[in-house]
Amino acid sequence: MKTDSDIAIIGGGLNGPTLALALARQGFDVTVIDALPAAERADRDFDGRAYALAMASVRLLRRLGVWDGIEDRTQPMLEIKVSDGRAGMGPLSPFSLHFDHAELEEGPMGHMCEDRVLRPALLDAMEAEPRISQISGDAVTAQDVDGAGATLTLASGKTLRARVIVGADGRASGTAERAGITRSGWGYDQTALVCAVQHERPHYGIAHQFFMPPGPLAILPLPGDVSSIVWSERAETAAAFAAMSDENFLAVLRPRFGDFLGDIALKGRRYTYPLGLSLASSLIAPRLALVGDAAHGMHPIAGQGLNAGLRDVAALAQVLGEARQRGEDASAPDVLERYQRWRRFDIAALAATTDFSNRLFSNDNPLLRKLRGIGMGAIQATAPLRRAMMREAAGLSGDLPDLMR
Ligand SMILES: Cc1cc2nc3c(=O)[nH]c(=O)nc-3n(C[C@H](O)[C@H](O)[C@H](O)COP(=O)(O)OP(=O)(O)OC[C@H]3O[C@@H](n4cnc5c(N)ncnc54)[C@H](O)[C@@H]3O)c2cc1C
Repeated sequence: MKTDSDIAIIGGGLNGPTLALALARQGFDVTVIDALPAAERADRDFDGRAYALAMASVRLLRRLGVWDGIEDRTQPMLEIKVSDGRAGMGPLSPFSLHFDHAELEEGPMGHMCEDRVLRPALLDAMEAEPRISQISGDAVTAQDVDGAGATLTLASGKTLRARVIVGADGRASGTAERAGITRSGWGYDQTALVCAVQHERPHYGIAHQFFMPPGPLAILPLPGDVSSIVWSERAETAAAFAAMSDENFLAVLRPRFGDFLGDIALKGRRYTYPLGLSLASSLIAPRLALVGDAAHGMHPIAGQGLNAGLRDVAALAQVLGEARQRGEDASAPDVLERYQRWRRFDIAALAATTDFSNRLFSNDNPLLRKLRGIGMGAIQATAPLRRAMMREAAGLSGDLPDLMR
């Protein structure tokens, strides 16, 4: 069969390009299609969005040759401090959690990386890879699968053929929908207000998570005296805060943020993200696999969405690469089923954990508050449990794909 590529990836956000690089290094010819023009996706202006990349994700990016070029623009996360509190009143429980990377042999739990650093680095790496072709500014509108391959139709009318198609097209994945893969999940009536702030005092690489009744406030260290804020509020309150002027927004943020880093000023733009859980009922269909948010969109409470997507990427690349090495047809149902078997449990467990944590912490119930305090106190007092949680957050536990070892 004549195909335009072995694998066509729909979605050139973060997971799509990483998968393209991993597959190209295994000898596959890959096409990546994104509805947005490349210049728009590669915007290098500071815009305040950032990701907590777990150590396993950093290893993957290093193996793909992306990390060395960006490492000095990322911020290692050396410590994480977690406390239960209320706006303007500081921690309400005598217990808090403190995770210190010094207790972990492997090094920092992860690195904070700005979107404007990661996204263009992935696009540049794809550009330099001869096995990858890119189509930008053209959306996939239809897909058909037959015995010999899959045909994608784009908004421009162009068609292309591939043996396997991968949906990396985000939470509202049209690839999944067109394949008849249903989704389950719910909204949290919470919206994340995302921005970056400049502060007077250094953060020393310490990330803070304050659990407040409407939702968690994460203060995550970026290079320099700058921190990324992911602040979850009830949807209605968040809409009101988002509509405020920068000055008024800072006035409501300050009592929640506290003064431990001195005064704060906004840096870059402000974003809002409605929060919810959205899980695809299957990770595969004939000649098709889903990765990243197309497979699972979850609450950012643990900063694990992209990390989970990158675990999909590393696992799928390994399964397809091994099939190819063994002379198997990489598009065969049993090959794709291996990918689904590998990833299904981890995804379900992470979705359940983020959902449970958000419900447990995002409320003002005195009984639950007491329980949270006891739980945090017990974890803080038990070093092996603390270390196990740090290894989990660093993405070092479980059945890791080779690219993350
Ligand atoms: C507030 C917030 C904070 C977060 N913080 C973290 C964190 O600290 N750490 C972490 O690990 N994760 C974090 N996440 C999660 C992370 O942002 C996502 O998991 C990640 O961005 C998903 O990437 P993706 O490539 O799967 O999808 P997307 O980034 O959504 O990319 C999808 C791409 O597909 C393209 N597309 C869509 N439809 C079509 C079509 N029909 N044809 C062609 N192209 C199409 C789109 O243009 C887009 O470029 C956070 C999320 C939120 C909301």
